[in-house]
Amino acid sequence: MKKTIEQIATWLDIKTNLKGIEVTGVSINTRTLKPGDLFIPFRGENANGHKYVRYAIEAGAAAALWQSDEPEPPSDLPLLIVDDCEKALQEMARAYRNELKATVIGITGSNGKTSTKDLVASVLKPYYKVQKTQGNFNNELGLPLTILSLDEDTKYVVLEMGMSGFGQIQFLSELARPDYAVITNIGEAHMQDLGSREGIAEAKFEIVAGLEQHGKLFYDGDEPLLLPFVEDFTQAVSFGFGPDNELSVGDIQATEAGSSFLVNGIIDAKFSIPVLGEHQVKNTLSAILIALEAGLTEEEIRRSLKNAALTDMRMQLIAADNGAVFINDAYNAAPTSVKAALNFIRETTMKESKWAVLGDMLELGENEQQFHEELASSIGPELEGVCLYGPRMKWLYEKLSTSYEGKLLWSEDDYGPIIDLLAKNLKKDTAVLVKGSRGMALEKVIEPFTGQ
Ligand code: ATP
Ligand code: MG
Repeated sequence: MKKTIEQIATWLDIKTNLKGIEVTGVSINTRTLKPGDLFIPFRGENANGHKYVRYAIEAGAAAALWQSDEPEPPSDLPLLIVDDCEKALQEMARAYRNELKATVIGITGSNGKTSTKDLVASVLKPYYKVQKTQGNFNNELGLPLTILSLDEDTKYVVLEMGMSGFGQIQFLSELARPDYAVITNIGEAHMQDLGSREGIAEAKFEIVAGLEQHGKLFYDGDEPLLLPFVEDFTQAVSFGFGPDNELSVGDIQATEAGSSFLVNGIIDAKFSIPVLGEHQVKNTLSAILIALEAGLTEEEIRRSLKNAALTDMRMQLIAADNGAVFINDAYNAAPTSVKAALNFIRETTMKESKWAVLGDMLELGENEQQFHEELASSIGPELEGVCLYGPRMKWLYEKLSTSYEGKLLWSEDDYGPIIDLLAKNLKKDTAVLVKGSRGMALEKVIEPFTGQ
């Protein structure tokens, strides 16, 4: 971005006497600030960014915002006084978005947002300039920061949109005005705030609020709860496992190199991705649909999907020193995604002996016990052993104690016993699924086996 301070003042609808200052980015953190950035101070619970404004300017910031109710703005610094720094950040992003010529893709859903974002970016990247949300910058601050970090000549922008309650996706969508929107699925995360899965579906559907008129919504057609919303919505296109979807997928083969599969409907073709798990194959469908909209040929899509790169810890294959394989899915966990991952490990033929290490699923609200217990039905005799970690996994442990005949271990807060049991059982022909909520940091059980 390259803007004068006067242009930014116009965006914010405020007056300024500052002149001739060029702004090349924005920053809310002095540690990652780059020379030429506009520094935006936030008042957090522990710190007040206004204290760092002088330091930010000394470190090379072109100018800074200053919230009007904050006393004593230093008169010797180049400041723009605003009513509210967070709103100002959002207004700037809105204005910058309106100037951009890029095609914007907004992605929401309970699971698979980051994976889908990575897949969409991967498929377009060899052919166009693409920029995407970094990490998980998917909320009312992360999304505007992402937009303000975009280059003016970017062709495609892939934005993750997260939420924990009603109204948030609507806000993000109206700000980003996507040309294409994706709803990956409806799960149980944030049940606490939204009351029911119907509520979650309604909140995700808010992504159409800012959808451009010529735009399209690609949605999980396997989810009946979305049907009432898409029924009268002419811009909607379904994808999923069900054969009635406008783009459906079948014949998924898992190998140590990833997954290959057939798609039917809008196109009929065979593709492969270097990632495991049927749900990742399903996420790939929306990437294919967007690639077709971008004018790519089947062969071009096939070539870029083959090399698609996903962010770490999402069904990532990690070879252990003795030839065993870990499937690291320790980035996060909710009932739908744990069941999907368990189904994968049960069904895969890539290894003979199969294990699962599962950690607590957090933030599930008052039915958390039931959600943990229900995982028992996704665990069967195909698994040689199951290791459970965390206080909530005790519920599943008690359920499995009466129904599951393989090796079973529960550890409340120590990785040690799990690592020991795995060490005794890991063979060349073993695959271990590792999955839990981020707070459980389950990747720790993998580290001792990989020599890293
Ligand atoms: P977050 O809300 O934490 O940002 P996210 O929506 O970005 O999550 P990912 O990070 O892509 O989701 O994946 C989170 C977990 O969900 C992973 O364990 C992944 O294996 C699983 N997952 C991904 N896609 C799906 C899907 N379509 N259905 C069910 N589970 C999925
Ligand atoms: Mg994410």
